[in-house]
Amino acid sequence: MSSQLLVFSDLDGSLLDHFSYRWDAAADALQRLQSAGIPLILASSKTRAEMAPLQQALGVAHYPMIVENGAAVVVPAGTFSTPLENAVPCSAGQEVRFAPPRSRWLATLAALKTDFPDEFAGFDDLGVDGIQAATGLDAGGAALAACREFSEPVQWLGTPARREAFVAALQAAGARVQQGGRFLTVAGQCDKGLALRYLRAAYQREAPDQPVHDLAIGDSGNDVPMLEVAESALLVRSPTHDFPALARRSGLRRSTGLGPAGWSEGVLAWLRDYQITEGD
Ligand SMILES: [Mg+2]
Repeated sequence: MSSQLLVFSDLDGSLLDHFSYRWDAAADALQRLQSAGIPLILASSKTRAEMAPLQQALGVAHYPMIVENGAAVVVPAGTFSTPLENAVPCSAGQEVRFAPPRSRWLATLAALKTDFPDEFAGFDDLGVDGIQAATGLDAGGAALAACREFSEPVQWLGTPARREAFVAALQAAGARVQQGGRFLTVAGQCDKGLALRYLRAAYQREAPDQPVHDLAIGDSGNDVPMLEVAESALLVRSPTHDFPALARRSGLRRSTGLGPAGWSEGVLAWLRDYQITEGD
């Protein structure tokens, strides 16, 4: 191949069905990426512990992954022959961190207990049983979700007005606070777009003469930074919410199918742009 193609994909609601977490509907496109040797780099707000088994099951554990919403990139040993900037060793090989550790936010939250007593509960307060009750995850899933390294989901128990004051106090302490379906996630100033740019540069250094063409795939707000910086972007249609707004106008596809069906449709269309079709 005369160019290096890369796919960066969100999991929940994109490659994984919003309700069932299945990816069968994307099997065709996954197979096509695999046979063409195109790296599929998972990029999720999930923890490394949650993502590793999914990466294995999808057959992409030999590629890097982006964990906890861009807080770190995990790079398997042997991925690159050229040295990685700012990398530190980890069990998989190397990792690059873009955000402070979770302990920093646990300390910030502990200090806020004085001003906001009984008004919030983080994963650390809830424990695995509490996380299970709050999320509907099974015990195993809750245990993996509890293995956080860079961020802390917090359940707000107080009034909306007090919530605003709480978020402002966290922001004043340097946190980025994102509202999800059930939790406020407290984390550093990282995003999936910064992590994508880092990995794209690493692949480019590896083969300086081959142009890198990347596709970012996502369905919601925390995917926007990577959808904006990739050369091509695929918005996957959600059964529960509208497409997030993007500033870009070119190089953008919106799927008609939902979740993994839309993922497959968009990836196959992108591959056709590079003349990668069935049988290649
Ligand atoms: Mg998603």
